[in-house]
Amino acid sequence: MLNHFFNIDQNLMQLSQKAEEKCKSSFERIEEVCAYNEAKVLAAFSKCKVSEVHFKGSTGYGYDDFGRETLDKVFAEVMRAEDALVRHNFVSGTHALSVALFGVLRSGDKLVSLTGKPYDTLEEVIGIRGEGNGSLKDFGVLYDQVDLNQSGQVDIEQVKKSVTGAKVAYIQRSRGYSLRPSLTIKKIGEIVNAVRSVEPNAIIMIDNCYGEFVEKAEPTQVGADLIIGSLIKNPGGAIAETGGYIAGRKDLITLCSYRLTCVGMGKEVGCTLNQSKPMFMGLFMAPSVVANALKTSVFALSLFDELGFEVFPRYDETRTDIIAAIKLGDAQKLVAFCEGIQKGSPVDSFVAPEPWDMPGYDSKVIMAAGTFTMGASIELSADAPLREPYAVWLQGGITYNTGKIGILCATQSMLDKGLLKI
Ligand SMILES: *Cc1c(COP(=O)(O)O)cnc(C)c1O
Repeated sequence: MLNHFFNIDQNLMQLSQKAEEKCKSSFERIEEVCAYNEAKVLAAFSKCKVSEVHFKGSTGYGYDDFGRETLDKVFAEVMRAEDALVRHNFVSGTHALSVALFGVLRSGDKLVSLTGKPYDTLEEVIGIRGEGNGSLKDFGVLYDQVDLNQSGQVDIEQVKKSVTGAKVAYIQRSRGYSLRPSLTIKKIGEIVNAVRSVEPNAIIMIDNCYGEFVEKAEPTQVGADLIIGSLIKNPGGAIAETGGYIAGRKDLITLCSYRLTCVGMGKEVGCTLNQSKPMFMGLFMAPSVVANALKTSVFALSLFDELGFEVFPRYDETRTDIIAAIKLGDAQKLVAFCEGIQKGSPVDSFVAPEPWDMPGYDSKVIMAAGTFTMGASIELSADAPLREPYAVWLQGGITYNTGKIGILCATQSMLDKGLLKI
């Protein structure tokens, strides 16, 4: 049937069927979490009395924007947080994370990353790379990190030693551009408890990117003080056009809002233009879209496992983020894979992605993203930094059936170039 529209090798189709059959119980688990989270979101909309008036955006200062205020309430309710700051004004996830860090840290304070080196784009924010550019380090914020142990796990004993005197303990839930395992909510809870046992007042901040709605609970439910993410990933449901969020303790959200806008004004300003409806609707769709992305991810992991590649995580593992990493082994395969993903996309399917120096990254990156929203990685997309271990990081897929076609096109592209045999 598929072959009616896309030119996929017969042997690949057979292998694909076999790979998909193996995903059955994973898919069932994903559907179960999805149903739970859809109910949770629907209940939050109902509790906060979301109404059509909330979709009409404001202009100018944006005073008394009930839509903006209600969206914050719905988000806080969904995340089981005291408060939330959900804004299209966050230009990216990195911006939201930066606002949170600058919002709560002061000169002389110590920030400790408990999950090794943070995501690439934060290196300059913290001051691990670059100088004299207004990074946290420039403002006198001290930085320390606890490296992951040999098996990529958080080193709890070392965490307890290093977190003494920390103002912020920072945890990245997702693997990012690494092959370490992503952190489950249960694991995050254990780390939170370890931090609290030595430094009860530390602000525990979670980079929640790619994690929202993958499990039934969020890190705020196991003691995290702040969680942060991007609206062009999971919680925007592929409908939000831009933006980010910070959710957590009310006093900290106020400080973050002072950093996003101005001290004293905080959450009370910021017009929503025409962005309220897509943010509301995106949140409503998010659990379902995340489930489709997860199924796409599981299918890809199963297929590439069949093809003999090393994949992270395994297709049958319990998930806590939507990322799949496949160790393809060399630059040619990375490029062919990404070209195929692009070909199997609904937008810009006719262009070929090329490696480039993406802002914030320190090696060339090839990115396939034939997406409705530029760079939206809740839509099927693949990124591969051209460096060891030559792995591609794959995420998104608004619908499973089209996501699956994208994966098959990526595989076909490798076949066409003679980089793969079936
Ligand atoms: C995507 C992501 C970010 C933020 O990236 P942006 O591209 O700025 O939205 C931060 N941390 C992790 C782990 C991410 O996956």
